[in-house]
Amino acid sequence: MRLSRYFLPILRENPAEAQIVSHRLMLRAGLVRQSAAGIYSWLPLGLKVLRNIERIVREEQDGAGAIELLMPTIQSADLWRESGRYEAYGKEMLRITDRHERDMLFGPTNEELITAIVRDSIKSYRDLPRNLYHIQWKFRDEVRPRFGVMRGREFLMKDAYSFDIDKDAARRAYEKMFVAYLRTYARLGLKAIPMAADTGPIGGDLSHEFIILAETGESAVFCHGDLIDQDILGETIDFEGDLKPLIERWTGLYAATDEKHDAARFEAEVPADKRLSARGIEVGHIFYFGTKYSKPMGAVVTGPNGETIELEMGSYGIGVSRLVGAIIEASHDDAGIIWPASVAPFKVGIVNLKAGDAAVDAACEKIYAGLESAGIDVLYDDTDERAGSKFATMDLIGLPWQVHVGPRGLAKGIVELKNRKTGERSELALDAVVATLT
Ligand code: ATP
Ligand code: MG
Ligand code: MG
Ligand code: MG
Repeated sequence: MRLSRYFLPILRENPAEAQIVSHRLMLRAGLVRQSAAGIYSWLPLGLKVLRNIERIVREEQDGAGAIELLMPTIQSADLWRESGRYEAYGKEMLRITDRHERDMLFGPTNEELITAIVRDSIKSYRDLPRNLYHIQWKFRDEVRPRFGVMRGREFLMKDAYSFDIDKDAARRAYEKMFVAYLRTYARLGLKAIPMAADTGPIGGDLSHEFIILAETGESAVFCHGDLIDQDILGETIDFEGDLKPLIERWTGLYAATDEKHDAARFEAEVPADKRLSARGIEVGHIFYFGTKYSKPMGAVVTGPNGETIELEMGSYGIGVSRLVGAIIEASHDDAGIIWPASVAPFKVGIVNLKAGDAAVDAACEKIYAGLESAGIDVLYDDTDERAGSKFATMDLIGLPWQVHVGPRGLAKGIVELKNRKTGERSELALDAVVATLT
C-alpha cells in the first residue's frame, strides 16, 4: 500500500479525552474514531489489526474442534423470556421495539439463541459433542464506557458454546477451550494468565478469566509469579488426548481475581517473593454452567437407552476488539505502538527520505515491488513529508520493520533497516532487503 493513496489520519497531539495509553495511541495512529460513547468506527489500519486477531482466534478455535457459524446481532426478546434472563439482565441490555411492537434486543451474548438452534436441530446423543462459535458484534449499555475499545458499548466478541451428554464430556470441552485460549493469547504476543473467576449472571460453577497484567487494568488480581513465563507454544497438543496434565501446570499455581481471592490461601500457597498482586485486563472468560439454559429452554436429546437427557453446556468468550487495546497496553513505548508481528497491520514500512529524487524513488519502488511479490504486507511512505515526520509516523503506527531509503546511503548502494521493537538499526545492501525480510 502506498501511503499517498491510503487513509491514515494521524493525530500529532494527544487527544484530551483519552485517559490510557492504548486509547491515546489508537486515536493518534488512526486506528479508530469514536462515533458515539463507547461506539467506534474501525479505520483501515485498525481494521487490519482486528482482522489479524480474528484470524488467530479462528485458527485456534478450529484447531480445538469448534465449528464456526454466524448468529445475528438482533435477537427476539421471547428467547430471553424462556431462560428468564430478559428481566434479569437489566440496563446493560439494549432493548428495541420493531414496527409491530415486538420486543427485540441487540445481543449482549448468545446463550439463548444458540441453545434454541441446537434444541431444534440436535435430537440424539449421537450428534454430540458439538462446540459452535461465532465472531460477532455485541452491545452492552455499559454504565461507564471508557478507555476506548477496552470498555466499549458495541464490541467484537468471539463466543463459543459447547453441548455435551454429561458432565465428564462437558469438562473435556472446557479443557479444550482452556488450552486453545492459552495458545491464542500466546500467538497474539500476550502473557495471559487463567484465573479462577466468579461466574456472574452467566451462572455455573467452573470458570476462568484470562487476564493480562497491566496497571490500567480494571480488575485486581493475585497470582503466583511463575505463571507469567510459562510456555504453551512449544508444546505439541493432542486435543483428543488427555489435556489434564497440561492444564494442571496452570491451575496448580495460585491465581484468582478479587471476587475469588482468598488471602489466607494465597499466603499459605505462594512464597512471599512470588506473590504477585496486580491489576489486570480481562481478555477472555470461559464457563461451564451445566443445564442452566438447556433445562428452562427444553434442550434435550435422546440417550442410548431412549431416555431424555438435558444438554450440559459451557460458553467461552474472547474480547476480540478489547484485545487491540490490550495488546497496545502490553506493547508500546514513548514513540508509539510496537505491534507483535502476528497482528501487525503491515509487516514492513518503507520510508522514502527524498521523494522526487529519481534514484531514491526507483530504489523504493524496487523494494516495494519485491516485498509485495514475496507476499509481504508493506506500507510505502511515498509522500513528500519531512523525514522527521515520516519517522515519527512509522514509530507511532508500530510496524515491526522499517526500511529507510535516502540519497546518502544509496550512493553507497545501501539502505537502513530498523527493528521497531529493539530500535536496532543496520545497514543493508539495497539488493539484500527483500531476502532479509522474507
Ligand atoms: P467485564 O468484566 O470487563 O465487564 P464481562 O465479564 O462482563 O467483562 P464476559 O461476559 O465475560 O464479559 O464477555 C467475554 C469477553 O468479552 C470479556 O472477557 C471481555 O474480554 C469482552 N468484553 C466484555 N465486555 C466488554 C466491553 N464492554 N468492551 C469490550 N470488550 C468486552
Ligand atoms: Mg461486564
Ligand atoms: Mg468480568
Ligand atoms: Mg467475564
